[in-house]
Amino acid sequence: MNIHEYQAKAVLREFGVPTPRGIAAFSVEEAVKAANELASAVTVVKAQIHAGGRGKAGGVKVVKTIEDVEKEAKRLLGSILVTHQTGPRGKEVHRLYIEEGSAIDKEFYLSALVDRGTGRVSFVVSTEGGMDIEHVAAETPEKIVSFSIDPATGVMPHHGRLVARTLGLKGDLAKQADVLIGKLHEAFLAKDMSMLEINPLVVTKDGKLICLDAKVSFDSNALYRHPDIVALRDLTEEDEKEIEASKYDLNYIALDGTIGCMVNGAGLAMATMDIIKLYGESPANFLDVGGGASKDKVTAAFKIITADPNVKGILINIFGGIMRCDVIAEGVIAAVKEVGLPVPLVVRLEGTNVELGKKIIAESGLNVVSADDLDDAAQKIVKAVKGAA
Ligand code: ADP
Ligand code: MG
Repeated sequence: MNIHEYQAKAVLREFGVPTPRGIAAFSVEEAVKAANELASAVTVVKAQIHAGGRGKAGGVKVVKTIEDVEKEAKRLLGSILVTHQTGPRGKEVHRLYIEEGSAIDKEFYLSALVDRGTGRVSFVVSTEGGMDIEHVAAETPEKIVSFSIDPATGVMPHHGRLVARTLGLKGDLAKQADVLIGKLHEAFLAKDMSMLEINPLVVTKDGKLICLDAKVSFDSNALYRHPDIVALRDLTEEDEKEIEASKYDLNYIALDGTIGCMVNGAGLAMATMDIIKLYGESPANFLDVGGGASKDKVTAAFKIITADPNVKGILINIFGGIMRCDVIAEGVIAAVKEVGLPVPLVVRLEGTNVELGKKIIAESGLNVVSADDLDDAAQKIVKAVKGAA
């Protein structure tokens, strides 16, 4: 789960991480009020969306007067911000963060993430902050330093020294870097973060090391123990289809291909996506309806898939283990009768009562193509989609 920059900074502040003063605003009036309260010489108006790259897209404005705060707030609220992270459709701005302007001396990059390779929390630091770290990684990888933290010892003084050396920090600033790494690591573990990105981490003209931007993602599997974090969820930032799917306990991820997939089991769902790719098309989604796919679940899943205008064909691939194939076939037919069938549908059933399931589909009179195995199913749906195009 992702949160906004202003929320991430509030979480980090709980752990004593230095950030500029700032106030969130949901309207132009609130933005003006916030700027008056901050009463700083320089104010920054920052669009709050769940994507980075706002600065380059005009979503971060440094201004000197209240009039300009008002002007920028009016311009940004309700506008669509397209950044290199939002995709071409962009994201609508509903919230702003009004922040005290910092006099920046240097901009660095710092992030922490769960490194699956080492099974540890790893930090990544670079002197090349503020800009696209992806470019730095591709073109000048030697400018990126990473290290992981041994969970048995936690952050050690040598980690702080490595960060200071990498960033060229001496004296008091080196001490600040050491303290900062400890606090960020503490926050990361305490809140079950999966990713924490500070870009830029800055040194101010008056010698302070502060976090000027903050992007945090949390491990969804650990959210049950963080009601305070769950409360920060902003549904307007999430895919509507994914929200709908979560209501029915369906594991659904929207993708950008043309073939809607309904599968039971995550492994089978992955294999289904792979084989669609193998035959030259792309999946429109990942969808695991789970082991006990009831008629209601199948119907809900069907509605979510057909609501996606990119879907040009649907592949249902179900292994009837605990569930019987005839029950699934009935569920599919009921769903098709309820929501209609605007695109070709291929169904592959295997497992318990498979013959009965196939018979039910064949006798339904609906335009459903039955498939014998996964290979056959994938080829049939790809052919149907390509034929329609
Ligand atoms: P994004 O990463 O989405 O572009 P940032 O929060 O990193 O957004 O802001 C972009 C740039 O704007 C920063 O690299 C920094 O140069 C500048 N900036 C952001 N916040 C402030 C601030 N409080 N004071 C001064 N400059 C800022
Ligand atoms: Mg940034």
